[in-house]
Amino acid sequence: MNIRDIMKYIESEYSVINDTPCEICGGNYIADCLEIDIINGFPYDVCTCVCENCGYEKTFTFSAPFIDENHFKKTKKTMN
Ligand SMILES: [Zn+2]
Repeated sequence: MNIRDIMKYIESEYSVINDTPCEICGGNYIADCLEIDIINGFPYDVCTCVCENCGYEKTFTFSAPFIDENHFKKTKKTMN
């Protein structure tokens, strides 16, 4: 997987975040920071988001694409 594929994957993560309304007020989440965490020996993209309306914080966790290729393909298909 090259850097362009990784960028595409991260963009698809942002589209998931954008499609998720705040569970408190229904507002939009803004991605605050994105980091790679190792959970049970597997890398995950962990994205902390803040509701632009009420400030509620939510953490989105995505499996890293180079570990779970099937998930990546599915995500790619959804984007097209
Ligand atoms: Zn909110």
